[in-house]
Amino acid sequence: MNTIEEFVFSLRRYNHLIGFKIDIDVAKKIEEIQLGIIKNIETMFNEIDLSDLTRFISKLSENGMLQRFIQEVSEAMGEGIEVADADKVLKEALDGNMNVRGARSSLIALQAVSRFFADKYLGTKGEIKRESAFCPICGSESKTMVKEGNRYKMICHFCGYKWTVSEGIIVCPYCGNKDSFSLGLFTDKERRVGLAYCQNCGTSWRIVLDETIKAPTITLPLIAIGAEKFRGSLPNAIDSGVDNA
Ligand SMILES: [Zn+2]
Ligand SMILES: [Zn+2]
Repeated sequence: MNTIEEFVFSLRRYNHLIGFKIDIDVAKKIEEIQLGIIKNIETMFNEIDLSDLTRFISKLSENGMLQRFIQEVSEAMGEGIEVADADKVLKEALDGNMNVRGARSSLIALQAVSRFFADKYLGTKGEIKRESAFCPICGSESKTMVKEGNRYKMICHFCGYKWTVSEGIIVCPYCGNKDSFSLGLFTDKERRVGLAYCQNCGTSWRIVLDETIKAPTITLPLIAIGAEKFRGSLPNAIDSGVDNA
């Protein structure tokens, strides 16, 4: 795990690439809260069953830890909900009802737990190979690829896990297409970030191409949003797929 200083430094340093101004104070606060939870869980387990994130979350929920984390986050975020309401609020948040009081806090807590698990998984099993845009740990869809040496990897926007999609050439993480004639990449002459697309399945995703960008993994999906400036160049058949993740 990276430190809060590295997190804030990288957001300041690469904010100009992203294309909109990040509220660094809010981002810093959330990161501090999450790093606190991660450190907290760290002290509670000697050994972790890495077979399934859902099982790990259930375990934290059964012994009341998850609900306590949600309560703590809600206090720090000024949403102040009771431990007894944590389960209900989390369920609402997972159903997409973000207007419920504490919904945001419950997701911040869940993300911290997921990040802890993904980090442990990475430390033990490494970056597994998978031709998919869906996180092998938490199932979230990633729109962010990074180039590291000759490897192309996806980074999960939620838990921060990183997995290898391909080596040597870009392969579509949605359909496995390897044909360079139906895969495209828009970038500018600096080649820092780019927007890739696949004509075979009609999807697009962002790529951080510049390997000198040194930033905590969890911030890379944010930095990759800079690639959205190329969206207008995509062929018509490709999804407009603009999201805020
Ligand atoms: Zn994930
Ligand atoms: Zn494809």
